[in-house]
Amino acid sequence: MAFDPEDFCWNYCPICGGRLTLCTDGEKEQPKCDRCRRFYYRNPVPAVCCFITRDDSLLLAQRAVEPCVGEWTLPGGFVEIGETTEEAVVREMREETTLEIASLRLVGVSTQQSRFYGAVTVLGYYVGEWSGTLQPCSDVLDLRFFSRENRPPMPFQAHRELVAMFDSLLEQADL
Ligand SMILES: [Zn+2]
Repeated sequence: MAFDPEDFCWNYCPICGGRLTLCTDGEKEQPKCDRCRRFYYRNPVPAVCCFITRDDSLLLAQRAVEPCVGEWTLPGGFVEIGETTEEAVVREMREETTLEIASLRLVGVSTQQSRFYGAVTVLGYYVGEWSGTLQPCSDVLDLRFFSRENRPPMPFQAHRELVAMFDSLLEQADL
């Protein structure tokens, strides 16, 4: 089904509460607060996910929160201000699995339209080294390794695309 994002729907400046007006930023009209002299853009939100394997099986996390609570996805989450995407993966893995990870390698990038965020751009990383004992924490109910034949269906299109990129790299023995 085609996704048709809403038009820009913010009317007020979140800093000063003043009404936003459409002004050109040099390229096109964007909402702007005249008092704060700041434009408000609606951009995709960056997120990360990771590929941790054991004996050819892939680690998946069962979500404890909406959307898609109870479904299995790649572990990961949103990138926070002040951290790199690699730092976000390390933090998320600590929070969700208690694992310490290293040797990250970018598998690919996929952007998915989102009802909640407009769009999410997900960077998938392969984890070359990990240590510790798996323990589901934070927004994760359970963690399990799945062989390729036994992977459950994944609810997020970006994760499905990244898994396809990952499988393709594995087939080329390029990981
Ligand atoms: Zn303002």
